[in-house]
Amino acid sequence: MTNNNNYLVANWKMYGSLKDLKSIKKVIKISKKGKYKNIKIIYCPPYTLINSLSKLLKKTALKVGAQNCHYNEYSGSYTGSISPNMIKSVGAKYVIVGHSENRESGESNSTINKKIVSALNQKLKVIFCIGETLSEKKKSKTNFVLKKQIYEGLKNIKKLDNLIFAYEPVWCIGTGVIPKTSDLKNNLIKIQKILKYKFKLKNPIILYGGSVSSKNVAELNKISEIKGFLIGSASQNTNKFIDIIKKSII
Ligand code: PEP
Repeated sequence: MTNNNNYLVANWKMYGSLKDLKSIKKVIKISKKGKYKNIKIIYCPPYTLINSLSKLLKKTALKVGAQNCHYNEYSGSYTGSISPNMIKSVGAKYVIVGHSENRESGESNSTINKKIVSALNQKLKVIFCIGETLSEKKKSKTNFVLKKQIYEGLKNIKKLDNLIFAYEPVWCIGTGVIPKTSDLKNNLIKIQKILKYKFKLKNPIILYGGSVSSKNVAELNKISEIKGFLIGSASQNTNKFIDIIKKSII
């Protein structure tokens, strides 16, 4: 049996406290079973939990990521912000950049580009989110938007090996809606082509994100262009997340 999808990224958003980390032990246990060994599970909790979770996952195959970072690599007068160096120092190996919830509050492609550069300099793996809004989709601007996000987000970045891409149509995040399979496949193929032919990435890793659940993951898994999932609300509940892990095996 092959496992088409390698990555399961749990984005806890602004949820979770220390006591919620205990339930992750169940995920650690499951992840050790042979058939799940190929799945790369990455937990992205709020900043406040990165240190404790890194300790909990230390001797396991599970990794920790942050949900965002500042564009300044080290430190500075940026009240309330956290740098790539800081998240790395407490055990994060990954960082999500360009999530639509941050784009919605004003994060531009050029800021995202600076964040990616700094995070890569810190040897973090970047999960770079792109996706069109509903109004952009309705105006048939999806291709234009995705292209712009990729070109501007990756501007002047030469080494792209430590990047993972997450295609997250904004209208699917937290809505319970997922794209039509044919539309999703088409958009993924377009993203793949840009990354392969314009950015010379041989095997770009592209995840899908947006209302992934145990009910739809098996169906989504049939789309060969998807190399894993970025999961928001369903990842915050360990039992639901375990269901997804189980159903993401083909
Ligand atoms: C996300 O936050 O990236 C996400 C995909 O959320 P949800 O799974 O809740 O739609």
